Amino acid sequence: MTTLVDHGLPNDSPGGQDAAALPIGVRELLAGASSSIVIDGHRQPSASGESQPSYDPATGGLLAHIAAGSAVDIDRAVRSADLAFRTHWRDLSAAARSRILLRLADLVEENCEELATLESLDNGKPLTEATYVDLALCAEVYRYYGGWPTKVHGDVLPVSPLVGEALVYTRREPLGVVGAIVPWNFPMLLTAWKVAPALAAGNAVVLKPSELTSLTSIRLAELALEAGLPPGVLNVVTGLGGEAGAALAAHPGLSKISFTGSTVTGRSVMTAAAQNLTPVVLELGGKSPNIIFADADLDTAVQGALLGIFMNQGQVCCAGSRAMVQQPVYDEVLERLTTAARQLRLGPGLADDTDMGPLVSAGQRDRVMGYIASGVEEGARLVTGGTAGDGAGYFVEPTIFTDVRDDMVIAQEEIFGPVLAVTAFTDEDEAIRRANATRYGLAAGIWTQNLRRAHRTAALLEAGTVWINAYNMIDPTAPFGGVKDSGFGRDLGPDAMHAYTAPKTVWVGLD
Ligand code: NAD
Repeated sequence: MTTLVDHGLPNDSPGGQDAAALPIGVRELLAGASSSIVIDGHRQPSASGESQPSYDPATGGLLAHIAAGSAVDIDRAVRSADLAFRTHWRDLSAAARSRILLRLADLVEENCEELATLESLDNGKPLTEATYVDLALCAEVYRYYGGWPTKVHGDVLPVSPLVGEALVYTRREPLGVVGAIVPWNFPMLLTAWKVAPALAAGNAVVLKPSELTSLTSIRLAELALEAGLPPGVLNVVTGLGGEAGAALAAHPGLSKISFTGSTVTGRSVMTAAAQNLTPVVLELGGKSPNIIFADADLDTAVQGALLGIFMNQGQVCCAGSRAMVQQPVYDEVLERLTTAARQLRLGPGLADDTDMGPLVSAGQRDRVMGYIASGVEEGARLVTGGTAGDGAGYFVEPTIFTDVRDDMVIAQEEIFGPVLAVTAFTDEDEAIRRANATRYGLAAGIWTQNLRRAHRTAALLEAGTVWINAYNMIDPTAPFGGVKDSGFGRDLGPDAMHAYTAPKTVWVGLD
């Protein structure tokens, strides 16, 4: 049985911890969070004065009030960003932009303890994950894109004019104001995936964080100013998706929208953007297969499968939620996965002994529990887990199903929680066919020691990322994104950098 750690603290202790033990910066931020909109370098409440509660996933208690921005705030933020783009940012030298982003990377590291604590409190994730995954990678993303501004350039083109001579070259120019809409599962990190390349390319950004996890975006805006970013170049508008998010997606002043979130919301963002012909990047959901062949090194494969589904409580877009195991090792792998899942300790993200924290919200917990109920109803076999914590926090046990048919809801829909479906397959052809048999195409994992099989399978899987003998590995240099209903366009790597610029052709007649 999974252990739900009882810390014996009242529901109003942030993160189930003694409030006095929190870093002073965290306490100040929680107290003043209703001024969470940052426009032109100034923190402020929403224009309407409305705010909304943000709850602590570990206790269900109130964590803070966040400004509930609306179309008025979005419009002010876009206008301010547009002015800052034209007057302060677009024409700043590449070297100066580079220095600011590199300084921001350093500031993220210097403030890591405070930022990781905020992220853990707001999202529920274990502090160790917030520190060594979210914040560590976040700093590296700003550092990676901090190196880019001085490497972006156009080309001189070998034209063959019909008449006369010409010098023709391209300039790679920033687009203007970019709208960035991000989800709650890796708030600081996924924000960096969009903000860092957009700023590096010389754009201004209006950021709309998730209403469930807005706290670190306030600190990010402050740290960016401290790093030397001119006011207005990065504006933050907190608020509900249907209000602030929808207003941003529909704003005619944007030159690009970069969205990460669910496939359903992605569709509505794209529909709104289409009215203004605003180009979009959509990073959407997934239902990723993690395929373990019989010749795999089972120690690492089992570890990879566990990391693939239980990291961040399974709230990972590329979570390996379908473990497909070749028949000869199926029983052994299932046994090992089940034993390990039962040993995971659930508790508040800030507690030292926590392996898995709560889910982000009561709604998310109920959604995941609904999928678990649907799996049972459709005849899948619950091997371990399947229950929610009985306290006020939003805990769900690590859960494993077997006897899952590919047409079941839990095999097709993104659960976005700690729920793994383990199925058996006989050969490579079957594995590939079934791995591709969902509408998603974000990521996939392959575990084998056969080099030929590894590359053959990687080529045939319909996914934006394929990990071989690894899972959930991310690096700023490696493009990340999906195919099919997982979206299009890429975050990270050179691809994202170029996607925030447009080539301008300059034709010089020489006759
Ligand atoms: P969501 O779609 O509910 O919300 C994402 C963001 O969109 C939030 O900021 C929300 O406020 C905003 N939003 C909601 N309605 C909106 C609207 N009508 N117009 C504009 N914005 C709106 O997603 P979520 O629950 O926050 O995140 C979970 C989803 O994100 C999962 O499906 C997950 O797979 C996906 N995700 C994808 C990636 C990736 O890189 N592909 C990464 C992380 C998460």
